[in-house]
Amino acid sequence: MHITPVAVARTPFAEKFAIPRQPQLAPAARGVIELQPPFNDPLALAGLEQVSHIWLLFIFHEALPADGEPPRLRVRPPRLGGNDKLGVFATRSTHRPNSIGQSVVKLERIEGTRLIVSGIDLLDGTPIIDIKPYVPYADSLPQASNGIASAAPGTVTVEWQPQALAAAHQQGQRLGEDVQGLIEQCLAQDPKPAYQQPGPERHYGARFWDINVVWHYPEVERIRVLEITAA
Ligand code: SAM
Repeated sequence: MHITPVAVARTPFAEKFAIPRQPQLAPAARGVIELQPPFNDPLALAGLEQVSHIWLLFIFHEALPADGEPPRLRVRPPRLGGNDKLGVFATRSTHRPNSIGQSVVKLERIEGTRLIVSGIDLLDGTPIIDIKPYVPYADSLPQASNGIASAAPGTVTVEWQPQALAAAHQQGQRLGEDVQGLIEQCLAQDPKPAYQQPGPERHYGARFWDINVVWHYPEVERIRVLEITAA
């Protein structure tokens, strides 16, 4: 068996920290799926303009096992606070056999051999190994249940230091992106590990595009964005 990437994902997420844990949680996360040779031909996309959402199959290229590392059979999902372990096949952990991930994203439009998508949860540069249309009658199962992840995770309140908000607007204009919306949607997911209970003096940071975002927790379940700077 040999797998060749068909495309690469260009996304706002310059690092893993603060990427939502599933797609659709941050609709402002716009990305571009750039087809790679020999698939970079509009013929490969003919018909896809009739589809609203697509499946991306990809490689968790920043979570590949080290050479000789034994396979992980049990993992600690962040959703369980990082304490409890589950079988790898009961989770959507990034540490998994063959490092294959899957995400449904909204297909906004097609520009030649570039797919403009939103609601993406992939790191910038992620290799895409296949693209498939979402098929509502087969892929959406209203009767399905999942006792581990029964609903979208809860969110926290996000507020801004006025200078940080002004800087976000400035950066948004420079990039032509909804910088404020993306930061709010991603931080509302509360990126820090669930077991951490930081005091207000502890600062956290993450990079979106080339922008460094710094925030803290004035109190539990409340995030205040302190600083936005271009790297
Ligand atoms: N929706 C996918 C799935 O279910 O297979 C991904 C779920 S996984 C729990 C989501 C996390 O994967 C994100 O929060 C991000 O930190 C991480 N991630 C995204 N792209 C990655 C990459 N290329 N390599 C390693 N980790 C990645």
